[in-house]
Amino acid sequence: MSKIVCKKCVLDSDIPGITINQETGLCHFCETYAPLSSQEKTEYLTKIEELFKEYGGKGDYDVIYALSGGKDSSYTLYKLKKDYPFLKVLAVQFDNGFISEGAIKNAKKMCEITDSDFLQLTMEKEVLYDTFQKAAESYDAFPKFAKYRASDICNICIAIIKQKLIEQAIIRKAPFIVFAFTGGQSPNPIINLSSNFIQWSRNLFEKQLEKIGVDDKDELFLLKREVIENMGDTAPSILHPLCLWEYSEDKVLDTLLKIGWEQPGINDSNSTNCTLNAFACYNHLEKYGFHPYAFDIAGLVRSGEMSREEGIEKINQELSRPLIEEAAKKLQVEIKK
Ligand SMILES: [Zn+2]
Repeated sequence: MSKIVCKKCVLDSDIPGITINQETGLCHFCETYAPLSSQEKTEYLTKIEELFKEYGGKGDYDVIYALSGGKDSSYTLYKLKKDYPFLKVLAVQFDNGFISEGAIKNAKKMCEITDSDFLQLTMEKEVLYDTFQKAAESYDAFPKFAKYRASDICNICIAIIKQKLIEQAIIRKAPFIVFAFTGGQSPNPIINLSSNFIQWSRNLFEKQLEKIGVDDKDELFLLKREVIENMGDTAPSILHPLCLWEYSEDKVLDTLLKIGWEQPGINDSNSTNCTLNAFACYNHLEKYGFHPYAFDIAGLVRSGEMSREEGIEKINQELSRPLIEEAAKKLQVEIKK
């Protein structure tokens, strides 16, 4: 059967698990799509403000913030501090060995502009390269749904960031962790963690690392056991305010360029900050046969945050060969000529 593309988003019948309803022309996700209403969004924002007022001002920081230096996380930090200027924020940037100079510069600049403290989380390049190499060479090491969310390499990075941000929040007694996920990525706007959940997610990631052949005995990637053991009864909450705000890529870029954030020179339409991303996408396409951003972009299109034309263009855009080759060389992974 020839490939059918969903009429509303960008998912197609060639992606494993996706069928397009012949009558409606829609994928399962579009058929069951139920976005937050503007009233629900307002209610969530009110709730978040109440939480800030109730739990803020007590620890070293109010918010541990995941700052990549890319457009979404830069914009969210800016608007967060504009809407809630009283928040004490520690912005954490994870240097995975592939983040661009531009992303580092942008992250530092955003911290200056928003009066946030900046922490760069770094590890030895050899350890990171070895881990990404193992992720590239793994197949279906993560739970089944994970590969629809991101590439194996990106999933490793995302998991490290989550582990280490929760760790920072516990150590610094910060009640909130904020990520810049958009509405299209359909996060739950407020997630209350518990010590049991934190322990469970640590163990899950440890097993995934073992599965790809990484023994993180020094707990470089994993949330340190000792920190969990001493955390007490209160656990931080994760907030996703960006999914409650009006969003368009143009508006975000427009705002950022005005305040001094600089457009990075990376030739990658899906990442403005990571030079490993093109290789991660290439690797995923080779292994699983569909673009790792397909579901992400489909979500943005479905929610109206991106036009369908732009989404289709992004998914079909050729990946940068120089970026792929450069990363493959660093990771010592063979790629097709
Ligand atoms: Zn669809």
